[in-house]
Amino acid sequence: MRQIFLLFVVCSFLISSGGAQAADDMNAVAERYAHLVLALGQHDPDYVDAFYGPAEWKTQAEKEKKSFDTIGREAAELIATLAKIPDGSRSGDEMVSLRREYLQKQLSALAARVRILKGEKLKFDDESRALYDAVAPTFSDSYFDQIIGQLEKKIPGTGPLWKRYENWRKPFVIPKEKLDAVFQAAIKECRARTLAHVALPPNESFTVEYVTNKPWGGYNWYKGNFHSVIQVNTDLPIYIDRAVDLAAHEGYPGHHVYNSLLEKNMVRDRGWVEFSVYALFSPQSLVAEGTANFGRDVAFPTRTERIKFEKEVLFPAAGIDASRADEYYAVQDLMKELDYAANEAARRLVNGEIDENAAAQWLQKYAVMEPVRAQQRVKFIKRYRSYVINYNLGEDMVRRYVEKRSGTDSEKRWSEFGKLLSSPRLPSGLQEK
Ligand SMILES: [Zn+2]
Repeated sequence: MRQIFLLFVVCSFLISSGGAQAADDMNAVAERYAHLVLALGQHDPDYVDAFYGPAEWKTQAEKEKKSFDTIGREAAELIATLAKIPDGSRSGDEMVSLRREYLQKQLSALAARVRILKGEKLKFDDESRALYDAVAPTFSDSYFDQIIGQLEKKIPGTGPLWKRYENWRKPFVIPKEKLDAVFQAAIKECRARTLAHVALPPNESFTVEYVTNKPWGGYNWYKGNFHSVIQVNTDLPIYIDRAVDLAAHEGYPGHHVYNSLLEKNMVRDRGWVEFSVYALFSPQSLVAEGTANFGRDVAFPTRTERIKFEKEVLFPAAGIDASRADEYYAVQDLMKELDYAANEAARRLVNGEIDENAAAQWLQKYAVMEPVRAQQRVKFIKRYRSYVINYNLGEDMVRRYVEKRSGTDSEKRWSEFGKLLSSPRLPSGLQEK
């Protein structure tokens, strides 16, 4: 009996010390992964989207300036090391299994990015699978044609639809001098709605800057210590619907909240340093962009609720006629159905089926964009390529994942959404049953 008891004690010791060893090994891989992301950032200025780990890690990367071959070899070594670490699922902590999968997929995307930067040409879908762990569905022109047909009926006038649309929506531009007031009002509402459901670090904050000459509409730069800088590009007119979109996407409960919760729950509470660095061209971006887009519908669970807020607060703050809000949003709903048109343009351009000019023309027709907006989008595609899928496919994947667990109950939706924002789950993990 005593012997059996001793055997039990020895076995449990071995299991728990094995677990501790596995955790140490995983931490070592995580730290080396963070160093590799910084090393690749030396070659690719867009790659490191955020880093708030030890400053000397960055200095070290600058000093070492590792070659593509060294970075690629080290990534392969780390993937092999990771495969030898016992699966953490025995610990019963799902987060440990997710962490392992996270590191494996982020490392393999990093290796793919190295190959791309070295000159390897990947087709659009192969690239998105390698970098973002997902492939966007393909739509034919006729799919968009039937949505365009419905829009044609709603927008008055003659001539190309993009021209009529631009004309029709002019009264819904936020005047430049009112932009900050409108945007701040949208942020305030989105923040209050988020704080009512998600526990945020008490000192979280962000600042807003207005910039020009960028290929994107808005950007969240996460600085660490629960602080973000949000930049809004004012190159082109900003329409009233963008206020809530941007406030939710960049701020609450989008990027600023996602990054703050990762810092709090992963980096500070668990000591998982891989989350102190954010590699832009990686699977994490699909979850980041998808949650940021879907966050708007979590904050405003029904369309009626959103329009009510806009009519009462944002339209008056912008000096726009609130009695036309329903008409405006009926058209915006149809425009949203054209979201995948930008993916199609990007797929064809990246695959070399069309050139930049043809891509801009195609966007004018199928995404109903005026020429200058279509050109801005082409610039974005040239720079970020298959990254474009992270927005709409990301939103759809996050929506399906969250709603499968919560149904349409808005309280449960917040809870599932909050859990997703505080976990290392990646795109293929969103598709699991
Ligand atoms: Zn974003």
